[in-house]
Amino acid sequence: MARQIGDLEKAALDLIRSRNGSILQSDLWKELGLDSREGSRLVIRLVKKGLVKRETVSINGRKTYRLFVVEQTAKTAPSLTVDLKTVMDVPCTTCPYIAQCGPGNFYDPATCAWLDSWLEEKTGRLRLRTPQRAF
Ligand code: SF4
Repeated sequence: MARQIGDLEKAALDLIRSRNGSILQSDLWKELGLDSREGSRLVIRLVKKGLVKRETVSINGRKTYRLFVVEQTAKTAPSLTVDLKTVMDVPCTTCPYIAQCGPGNFYDPATCAWLDSWLEEKTGRLRLRTPQRAF
């Protein structure tokens, strides 16, 4: 079944491709005239559809993402199947403050209540799933 790609998603992919297949997330938003919330949602859609992957990078001490177009071909598509469920609900993926977040900043992963809450929820689930040893 063919994937539906909206005009904005197509424009984003075209822009990334025009930059040799890679662009900083914030540059993508700016060049498409989007605010951070719209930009985050767009990127999440592209990642969920497997059209873009992103890697965390640090630019001048600030954490951001670099986006890469995932070129789908018959040969490469099977190896591009990635289970993103485990990380798609990380609060950083939709955080409007991602561009300002970094060590020592007002928004700092080390002190972020959203991230703490997410980690506590995840580790709580892991503890529940860990089988008990029988001695
Ligand atoms: S650590 Fe907190 S403030 Fe920073 S990007 Fe993630 S959710 Fe946002």
